[in-house]
Amino acid sequence: MDSGTSRRIRGSFFLDILLCCAGLLFIGSEPAAAQTESELRQTFLERFARSYFPGRSGQIMVVPRRGEMITRPEPAYQFMHGSPWDYDTDIPFLLYGTPYVRTGVYTDSASHQDIVPTIAALMKLRLPPATAGRPLLRSLNVSAGPPRVIFVAVLDGMRKDYFDWYASDLPTMMRLRREGAWFNQAQVNYLPSTTALAHATIDGMILNAPFNRITGKQEDPFPNMSPRNLMAMTLADVWNLANDGRAVIIAQGSVFYAAAGLGGHGACLLNGRPIILVAYDARSGGWQANTECYRLPEYLKDQTSRTVWEAANGMWLGHSISNPDAVRRSALFARFEADALIELIEQEPLGTDEITDLVLVNLKTPDFVGHQYGPESPEIRETLTELDRQLARVLTAIETKLGAGSFSAETTPALRAPVLALTAKWRTR
Ligand SMILES: [Zn+2]
Repeated sequence: MDSGTSRRIRGSFFLDILLCCAGLLFIGSEPAAAQTESELRQTFLERFARSYFPGRSGQIMVVPRRGEMITRPEPAYQFMHGSPWDYDTDIPFLLYGTPYVRTGVYTDSASHQDIVPTIAALMKLRLPPATAGRPLLRSLNVSAGPPRVIFVAVLDGMRKDYFDWYASDLPTMMRLRREGAWFNQAQVNYLPSTTALAHATIDGMILNAPFNRITGKQEDPFPNMSPRNLMAMTLADVWNLANDGRAVIIAQGSVFYAAAGLGGHGACLLNGRPIILVAYDARSGGWQANTECYRLPEYLKDQTSRTVWEAANGMWLGHSISNPDAVRRSALFARFEADALIELIEQEPLGTDEITDLVLVNLKTPDFVGHQYGPESPEIRETLTELDRQLARVLTAIETKLGAGSFSAETTPALRAPVLALTAKWRTR
């Protein structure tokens, strides 16, 4: 299984055969690092089993040798993630926010699935019995009462070891790690760790395949920006129903299948109310929503990524970025994402009542830039630096919003929202 080579395999075989579906069958701690080949094989099989969904999953699972990866034959996907190896499955995972989170480094096993029960514990929300994962209670102070706002930031394509390699470029993230609860054994524990599945697991639970067995073709998991194929309710859905749409719920992503996995169904769930769920449209360069299920705020309708590349004369680090697709593969796009998010935070009535509001975002630049240039490139360094800067702006926007008199009965630290940051991926050389 482990050849120790770093040969790269091209082609879309991996994506064609490995279908992403999740039936979360096993929850528990992962085996320690030193494993025999048969133990490792068993671990991988368990991880595939967790995401297997009959009728939608593939029947052949391909595991690249350690150090190898299977890419797509396109410049934008020179590097790929999704393998079972530690460099793909170890994820940064932290909670932040006084007084709800207890500062510390936690060696407890943790996974994406734990985020929902952890947030629900803070919100004092009862989840459906089929929910996977467990609340990370040692890191919480649940007696502090429900927070006014919970902010979930998924830093897409953010390798855990970026926190070591690029520590000096990431002052905000390093501070969150230092002052928050950092889970240093967090792992993706299902395979493959593709985006739609990963995001549904973070805030939801189950998702299905981008491959249609009947037509034999790959398909968008969410055609026409519809959450129809999202088979389980997300935390946002449960919360939306529980308070009949009175919670402010905002979901944002730079692809729809990332945002929908976080935000869920909105008004397209029976008795659901519209939530704000916006996704970047790589054709128009603007923010879009399926208005059957979601609300697209007026103030986002005119935002266009054209302003980003025009301000940079169409170039970033020697690469042309002068179209709505290419501009995403630059650090500059992080500001565009943050500008929209800050606008949402400032404009929407967040934190104005006793009902916890949810802000769920997928920040995508480490993934886009990582796919094209790799985890050790000057491009990724620049991107992470910018992402850190933008994350600081977003946190300031939340704290400014919540600190503006809405919480006079509480002390200042209590005004902070917990931040959850994670995700997988990338190979080392
Ligand atoms: Zn990716």
